[in-house]
Amino acid sequence: MSARVNAVQSEVVRGGRVLALAGLSDMVWGHVSARDPAGRGVWMKASGLGFEEVTDDDILLLDWDGNVLAGRGAPHREYPIHTEILQGSVTAGSVVHVHPPHAIALAAAGLELQAFSHVGGIFAGGVRRYRDGAGLIDSAAAGAALADALKDDRALFLTGHGVVTAGPSVAVAVATAVMLERACELQLLAEGYGGMAAPLTSDEALRIYAHTQADEHLLGAWAYLSRRVDRDGIGRSLPNAT
Ligand SMILES: [Zn+2]
Repeated sequence: MSARVNAVQSEVVRGGRVLALAGLSDMVWGHVSARDPAGRGVWMKASGLGFEEVTDDDILLLDWDGNVLAGRGAPHREYPIHTEILQGSVTAGSVVHVHPPHAIALAAAGLELQAFSHVGGIFAGGVRRYRDGAGLIDSAAAGAALADALKDDRALFLTGHGVVTAGPSVAVAVATAVMLERACELQLLAEGYGGMAAPLTSDEALRIYAHTQADEHLLGAWAYLSRRVDRDGIGRSLPNAT
């Protein structure tokens, strides 16, 4: 570990490992970022590496234009997802962009995410779709348009592509992505048996699942998955093996 490695880099590495453990890897694609505490830009992994391969030194500090200020390797082409969302937000400290199979399938099927479980209850307020995000988000203009679509929400489907989540910390942004994929998987399972006989209204779901909508709930999931990473590693499961 080099002397310049800091806590932010280690947290971003950990975020990727938690995503890998939870089955949200897509080979070398997908990324987690954290806002630089000194305001210089964002920390995120270099391209060409799977989440489980990344070490602290592979976490780059990018300025707001994507120039590498620290770390080894080249940035992901989709770094503007992170720079534009974090630059335009006063509340977000971390952004996740991944390609989870159930979320992609649910969005492609044109289904609205329904809250009918505790994991889905986190999203009782709804998760919107961004239909102009199927291609690579590899320019500042594309990143800014995506940031506009996300607004102050914590999650957004990119139809034909994947999802984006945001939160005040790596822990919350990562746990939100994990929960979103689980909620989508559960809904697709229900859809396979004819769907939900009596879906809750948004108001009902917001009330019933209120306890899931606090960050403490997400932090509990993060802490558990983080302990699993420390105890067991990410195992031998293949990406998208769910
Ligand atoms: Zn992508």
